Amino acid sequence: MARVPVYVKCLYLSAPFRSRTPTFPHPLATFAAVRELRGLGKLDIMNGVPYLREIVHEPHPTLRRAAKKVRAEELEDPLVQQLIDDMFVTMYEAPGIGLAAPQINVAKRLFVVDIAIDREDYKLGPLVFVNPRFTAREGELESTEGCLSVPGKVGDLKRYERVVCVALDRHGKRFEVEGKGLFGRCLQHELDHLDGTLYIDKAQNIRDPHTEEEDETASTEGESTSAGGDGEAALSA
Ligand SMILES: [Zn+2]
Repeated sequence: MARVPVYVKCLYLSAPFRSRTPTFPHPLATFAAVRELRGLGKLDIMNGVPYLREIVHEPHPTLRRAAKKVRAEELEDPLVQQLIDDMFVTMYEAPGIGLAAPQINVAKRLFVVDIAIDREDYKLGPLVFVNPRFTAREGELESTEGCLSVPGKVGDLKRYERVVCVALDRHGKRFEVEGKGLFGRCLQHELDHLDGTLYIDKAQNIRDPHTEEEDETASTEGESTSAGGDGEAALSA
């Protein structure tokens, strides 16, 4: 997967919804163009200029708190819409396939997912999940995962094979989506973040990466194409 060029990487410093210097050309603009070329649809950008946020790492305390529900009126706040855009661009730049608000030090029940960015066979993203919950969880599969908040490690754990997730979108509209395979595992990984749980709490054989695929999963890649016992891609989110 081609890395998105990063010209200015800025740090998120203090107030929960305040950001720093914009990047240009913007990574999100690059992805938006690629998505349109592939016929994957337009990105839903509300505010025009998203900012990179700093991804916090274990043992940052926000990663270990249960995040708070987002109130309906909060979604009307331009700063929360800005936060969502910032989460997308931060996820794309990492790059990852999912990012939960606690990972950028915002304890809100909110995550973003896009697993379409490097796999043309997927059309699942970009999606915003506000106050998500599972209404169904079935089956079991092995998952090899990494996490942008636990850089440099991978581990093996069991996930549900299929989940059904109900959430609000960024406009407050309720939606339901079925998650299987990589998408389903990503939803479970991100929902865990909202409860203060990291994959390393559930994983066995947490290790430094041994293969190229694992290395990609552990460090910068949002996904790789061959790891994982179920034939699905490994996951870093
Ligand atoms: Zn994670």
